[in-house]
Amino acid sequence: MTTPKNELLFVALGGSGEIGMNVNLYGCQGKWLMVDCGITFADPAYPGIELILPDLQFIEERADDLLGIVLTHGHEDHIGALPYLAEDLGVPLYATAFTAGLIRGKLEEEGNAKRVKLNVVDTTKTLQLGPFGVDFIPLSHSIPEMSGLSIATPYGRVFHTGDWKLDASPVIGKPAAPEQLSAIGDGGVLALVCDSTNVFNNDPSGSEADVRAGITEVVAKAKGRVLVTTFASNAARLHTLGEVAKQTGRALCVAGRSLDRILKVAKATGYLKDFPATVDPEAAMRLPRDKVMIVATGGQGEDRAALSRVAFGSHPIKLDAGDTVVFSSKQIPGNEVAIGRIQNQLAAKGIVMITDRQAHVHVSGHPGRPELAQMYKWLRPEILMPVHGEMRHLMEQARFALSEGVPQALVQSNGEIVRLAPGNPQKIGHAPIGRLVLDGDVLLPGDGGTINERRKLSINGQMSVAVAIGGRGLIGTPQVRYNGLPVEEDRVPFLEETVDAVIAATKQPPKDREKLREAIRLATRKVATRWTGKKPIVDVLLIEA
Ligand SMILES: [Zn+2]
Ligand SMILES: [Zn+2]
Repeated sequence: MTTPKNELLFVALGGSGEIGMNVNLYGCQGKWLMVDCGITFADPAYPGIELILPDLQFIEERADDLLGIVLTHGHEDHIGALPYLAEDLGVPLYATAFTAGLIRGKLEEEGNAKRVKLNVVDTTKTLQLGPFGVDFIPLSHSIPEMSGLSIATPYGRVFHTGDWKLDASPVIGKPAAPEQLSAIGDGGVLALVCDSTNVFNNDPSGSEADVRAGITEVVAKAKGRVLVTTFASNAARLHTLGEVAKQTGRALCVAGRSLDRILKVAKATGYLKDFPATVDPEAAMRLPRDKVMIVATGGQGEDRAALSRVAFGSHPIKLDAGDTVVFSSKQIPGNEVAIGRIQNQLAAKGIVMITDRQAHVHVSGHPGRPELAQMYKWLRPEILMPVHGEMRHLMEQARFALSEGVPQALVQSNGEIVRLAPGNPQKIGHAPIGRLVLDGDVLLPGDGGTINERRKLSINGQMSVAVAIGGRGLIGTPQVRYNGLPVEEDRVPFLEETVDAVIAATKQPPKDREKLREAIRLATRKVATRWTGKKPIVDVLLIEA
């Protein structure tokens, strides 16, 4: 059992070596602190699954020593697992008001808001949790109240960035304060644990304020209806879209449940006060085409989101030739196919599409190299430890930091236990890691028996054979059913041949029922392989009559 002694440990249970599902642990003097607890979205390797969560077994076994979970910001890859995992950990959560508002909504939806202690932090004070003194430091990102964490410990200070960028005019929230970050650097930073998402970008991410001009230009020129899709949680972008609607004299219609939710939390926490009054989709459709602007979710190609439904004609908002769809978001790697499907559908209708390739309608929320270099200069860490990236991103940030004069860089991946201090940083062991999947309403191990069966089913198809056996052998005709094979016009002869093969296999039924079952299974599979070249799962039901 790893228990942190007089030392400072770091372990990522998710988010290092992948983009998504961030969970980081700091250990010191017998205690642990968790930073973020996020999810990842579906992956074709998990058929039928929409949400993937980190396996927290390592810290669940040490839950008595876990002091709490501190959240950097409200994106799904940082808070999304809380509704499913926080209650069992039984520790308090700490977040700023906006982030806490989003978490509360999720806990309420999952029905455990009363059983999870959620604290709104006072960002003007240090949050002391055992040996960890945590200060929330405002940084810009694509959601309000993103907070870098300056974590003081008896073995040195860690600056855990969360997701960040530098933006002198972030539209919502305070820009990063150079004096504050320099002052933290003056006090000495042992380790900078830093976002690696955009390390391959040579340019800075760009300012949210500049997006306004780009979107205004596009909307002002547009002839018919305009639909803009963006991430619901990007409240600054929503503010911008509200302003664009006012400026171009268009009524605003908001389509998507997650947008309603964000608007509610944002208004409750003091943002978007001057967001224009909205019209519902039916009213929007009655307005002249050039007098309406729709904001919709679904720019990542999500099946059930508003944009997909608009594209496929099952939403009250209808678009026609000459209307415009603006993608005020970037394609998240992995979503290209789903986005392409929607764009093809829109293209077929003659709808004009504007992405960040045609106009300045989006800026990223993660730091490019100039911003990373600036952060290194302010904080002057002894060690750079990259997180929030695939292995190629982590390696690249390590190289970049060394080239910018950071004395040491340490690349770790999920499950590696790193001792940051005392002494030289080093890896001292392994924590078990893994993925859980939310399958319907239940959490299952991502590589457990059930999901493996699901994969086999989706790849090979399945057959069931029911056979009644009495003292003198087979009774009646075996019943055969199939799912997912063979080709449709072959089904009748395929079925007949399978039944014959099963009858043959039961001619001299062995006393040992398991042997009989296996003989029937093999006979059935042989027919299937001959007809299809595949090896389906075969279930044999023996009924003793
Ligand atoms: Zn993130
Ligand atoms: Zn984020």
